[in-house]
Amino acid sequence: MRSALVTGGAGGIGEAICRRLAEDGFEVYVNYAHSEEKALKIAKEINGKAIRFDVSGKKEVDSVFCSIGHLDLLVNNAGISEIGLFTDISDDISEKILNINLKGAMNCARAALKNMIKEHNGNIINISSMWGQCGASCEVDYSASKAGMIGFTKALAKEIAPSGIRVNCVAPGFIMTEMNSRFSEEDLSLILEDIPLGIFGKPKHIADAVSFLASDKSEYITGQVLAVNGGMVI
Ligand code: NAP
Repeated sequence: MRSALVTGGAGGIGEAICRRLAEDGFEVYVNYAHSEEKALKIAKEINGKAIRFDVSGKKEVDSVFCSIGHLDLLVNNAGISEIGLFTDISDDISEKILNINLKGAMNCARAALKNMIKEHNGNIINISSMWGQCGASCEVDYSASKAGMIGFTKALAKEIAPSGIRVNCVAPGFIMTEMNSRFSEEDLSLILEDIPLGIFGKPKHIADAVSFLASDKSEYITGQVLAVNGGMVI
């Protein structure tokens, strides 16, 4: 049975990815930092394993991946966002965004690759954002972290392709999850006007893209950014 680890696996998009990968036949490690109850519930329902660690803690990440050993797929999905003027965001918050979103993904990839390279087998999927492609006002640190994930994906894909490992990125548009619960009804109707397909994204849409990139149907695809955004950024 193929194995997959999804960081932030108990979040809105993470849960959909975990459930979809389990349907696809993966044994899934559902990572969480705080949402223990939800992670345990999801893991139980999909016959997977809930696993706690903070992606920004390098030592913790190394020791967890070392104890897991063989892994076929890593999905770097954990992320946080903060809205505010660039000049109002504190150094602490800025550091936290970069450490979780970008450095966290790099920590997990570095740890997972120790085995993947030895085994000449593996697949890494990074969940970036449309804001990493085009930048968002009042989400500058977040956009920088997500743009960093795109650069990270492309460079790593080139470096480890000779080891038979693929690295791709999914760039979601506006997906209805807890992360977007702060928007008012008025904000939401303005955002909807900017989505050509006329509907908000669902976690399922991202899970479908991950499922494709995790499968043999994408065996010749690496270093790419798959935008799943209803046409919001083209
Ligand atoms: P969400 O529901 O808020 O989930 C975020 C997840 O990240 C949570 O499961 C959380 O786990 C986890 N996380 C946060 N800090 C962590 C840490 N230090 N270590 C491990 N896990 C950590 O958000 P979402 O909408 O599903 O977002 C998932 C990913 O998609 C994020 O990377 C986000 O940037 C990206 N994205 C989302 C949208 C959107 O519109 N929703 C658009 C573009 C990109 P705990 O609860 O256990 O802390």
